[in-house]
Amino acid sequence: KMNTDLGQHILKNPLVAQGIVDKAELRPSDTVLEVGPGTGNLTVRILEKARKVLAVEMDPRMAAELSKRVQGKPEQKRIEIMLGDVIKTELPYVDVCISNTPYQISSPLVFKLLNMPQPPRTCILMFQREFAMRLVARPGDPLYCRLSASVQMWAKVSHIMKVGKGNFKPPPQVESSVVRIEPKRPRPNIDYNEWDGLLRVVFVRRNRTIAAGFNSTAVLSILEKNYRAYCSQNDMMVDDDLDVKAKVDEVLQSTGLGEKRAGKCDETDFLTLLYAFHQVGLHFA
Ligand code: SAM
Repeated sequence: KMNTDLGQHILKNPLVAQGIVDKAELRPSDTVLEVGPGTGNLTVRILEKARKVLAVEMDPRMAAELSKRVQGKPEQKRIEIMLGDVIKTELPYVDVCISNTPYQISSPLVFKLLNMPQPPRTCILMFQREFAMRLVARPGDPLYCRLSASVQMWAKVSHIMKVGKGNFKPPPQVESSVVRIEPKRPRPNIDYNEWDGLLRVVFVRRNRTIAAGFNSTAVLSILEKNYRAYCSQNDMMVDDDLDVKAKVDEVLQSTGLGEKRAGKCDETDFLTLLYAFHQVGLHFA
């Protein structure tokens, strides 16, 4: 009956469901986005604490079941069920997001929430254990990767509980974890695509040096293309003997970060690099 292609693993342990909702520290004035409400195990608990729930569900059968569950009750007026793929849905401002996330959309959901014009105050999200551990990993940890560095620029992330397979019906293949994501306020004043572009270059392999990441003709040609675009937008002449590789080497020299491994670099290291690249006119997006 469950559609596991849609990540339908219903949380059957009421203590875990209540634990997730409690961790959100909801206020009576809150509007809460719930992604993938399924049969509504979390939804009914959120409705006890919050003013309103916006539930986005892709499976019409599940949406119908949820709407039956609240039908004729006072809660019915405080829930709005939107049918569709949350990733393709334009979302209004919400105070909090709670989700037992369908694992297929873990990464797109995180970035969708972080890129909202005004992100939620807090997000309490259940993920596969490994994805959760990558989100919270710190420089030098074995799981620290592009995802960690990328998300941690925009939010404070913490692991809040482990949830074993046996708490779901049907049980998924892997263990799960709940994390809290608190978007930084105000949003750091950095261009999203520049940050993402730099991390994509340096994290091709986390154990390689930063310099090795730039030792790629594909990367150098993108930097050159962006440099030419940047010059033309700023009415600057491009030198006849433009040597992007030399500019890159200059940045790696001056920052002293060329020989450091991406997996050991912290946010300050990456910001130092990005700033130094911008100083010589090199852009990642
Ligand atoms: N919230 C329920 C619970 O905790 O028991 C169900 C969670 S189940 C892991 C994930 C739910 O997300 C399913 O109901 C599934 O139909 C729905 N879903 C899957 N992909 C979705 C998407 N792209 N947008 C919205 N809902 C989705």
